[in-house]
Amino acid sequence: MNAASVLARAEAAGVRFVLDAGRVRMTSDRPPPPDVVTDLRQHRDDVAHLLALREAVADPGEHDGAEAVALAAHHAAAAHPHAYKPTDPDPLRDGLLAAAMRRPPAWADNLAEPSRGSVCASCAGRRWWGDRLGWRCATCHPRPRDYRPSGRWREVQT
Ligand SMILES: [Zn+2]
Repeated sequence: MNAASVLARAEAAGVRFVLDAGRVRMTSDRPPPPDVVTDLRQHRDDVAHLLALREAVADPGEHDGAEAVALAAHHAAAAHPHAYKPTDPDPLRDGLLAAAMRRPPAWADNLAEPSRGSVCASCAGRRWWGDRLGWRCATCHPRPRDYRPSGRWREVQT
């Protein structure tokens, strides 16, 4: 039994969970069945992690939402019936990769050129331009018509 099913079974038994400074607090109108309590103890850390993810996903201001969703899906999924193969669908890997490829619309480090696969976190664009001041998304921050670079500038497509 994985943490997601332990959590679902406990909630179906009337147990309510609150995260309080990283600690899980449980309340219930009636004592939960002993096996539910045993399962919760066995999966305590994973259940706490799932509850934290659930809160992160519910918060619209959470900028790591894509990563949190991928982790929640990973923890909710049943164990793989066979050994992992790189070609298998992997929501955790894909979610982490998508989160890693998100770039802000602009940043001040001109050495941090956007890499292949980078997408703008604001518009999902893949065209960037950079000069000695840094890099910008070409859609969110297009080069001004009267742009006069004081040094080299480049445009890249990711
Ligand atoms: Zn953009």
